[in-house]
Amino acid sequence: MDQPMRKERFPDMNLKDTLARAVAGEPLAHETLAFLLSLEDPRDLQALYRAAYQVKLQLVGNRVRLRGIIEVSDICRKNCYYCGIRRGNSNVDRFEMSMDEIMAAARHAAEFHYGSLVLQAGERTDARWIDFMTDALRNIKTIGNGKLGITLSLGEQTAETYRRWFEAGAHRYLLRIESSDPELYAKLHPADHRYAVRLQSLRLLREAGYQVGTGVMVGLPYQTVDNLAGDVEFFKSLDVDMIGMGPYIVHHRTPLGQQFPEIGSDTARQLELGLKMIAVTRLHLRNVNIASTTALQALAPDGRERGLLAGANVIMPNIGDVAYRKGYQLYENKPGLDENAETQRRNLERAIGSIGESVAYDEWGDSPHFAARKKNAEA
Ligand code: SAM
Ligand code: SF4
Repeated sequence: MDQPMRKERFPDMNLKDTLARAVAGEPLAHETLAFLLSLEDPRDLQALYRAAYQVKLQLVGNRVRLRGIIEVSDICRKNCYYCGIRRGNSNVDRFEMSMDEIMAAARHAAEFHYGSLVLQAGERTDARWIDFMTDALRNIKTIGNGKLGITLSLGEQTAETYRRWFEAGAHRYLLRIESSDPELYAKLHPADHRYAVRLQSLRLLREAGYQVGTGVMVGLPYQTVDNLAGDVEFFKSLDVDMIGMGPYIVHHRTPLGQQFPEIGSDTARQLELGLKMIAVTRLHLRNVNIASTTALQALAPDGRERGLLAGANVIMPNIGDVAYRKGYQLYENKPGLDENAETQRRNLERAIGSIGESVAYDEWGDSPHFAARKKNAEA
């Protein structure tokens, strides 16, 4: 990654002042975002994380929102150059969970008092899949009289499909832009995966009534500090309610993994970049939900806790069947492949407690940003 020396590029920036202004809620210019994302000195980084944590405590609190994630299927019609379950990888055991399996996982989430679910899968647009997911949503909504909130992460769909799934009970949707820079986006995807379509999908989701989340991969080949600063500005310009982003991790059976096998081998650096993005996003977007993703944990056993300490407030423990996890490998060394839902829950509770935070059980956990947006729309 192209990172100009901080002192050369930002001779006039003072970290202490910048952070004080950021905590107070002053809008951050592109140069300021780039400056913060370029920090490397461990003491500077600690100051950045502390500032972001302070904003998090003020605006979203220290109770972690959990979403039990169910990876419903690894069948995908797309061929993103970085992803282990891309259509072109013939070395993947393709699966689709049955309705009974999905319902068993959803009941687990309810028994664990998780309050909210994420249904994630490869991108599929066939009529059978759309109907199947519609039925799954309706069925999940019968559990405990609709007590589980549902986020979807099922890729680009038509306005009609987004509407159907919303009416069937989903209320949040996560669709990462992957990179907000159209040129970088084009380098990461085949020509028929279009940036404009991804962007339009984010608009359609908002129109359909969802709380919308987006995000990017961090530490990608070709990605610069200015790209990342642009990503944070992009999140703000879209006025999103939630952010799900994380480090890019190599999968060697992908074109990007083969072209740049060494990218990401410096795991400490990849982790640091992921944490910086969380912190800077917290400072710039303030009251949104930000996930501390599994990819952070793939880089360090305490990666997710460090994400919380850098400003994230959401964790997505896997509650699907352990038997399918080896199929759903977006990247190598994905953690928790053998950990059942109960073990995960206990480990997670212990980890969250160890940093002085607690779990918000039995709540949908919508972001304060969404509540404010709703209030404004009603006024
Ligand atoms: N197929 C849907 C989509 O792409 O929106 C949802 C599932 S997809 C597996 C979820 C996310 O996984 C993608 O948005 C992408 O950012 C992430 N991902 C894929 N390959 C990755 C990799 N090698 N390292 C880190 N994240 C990756
Ligand atoms: Fe499919 Fe999503 Fe992976 Fe792209 S990132 S190949 S759409 S599962």
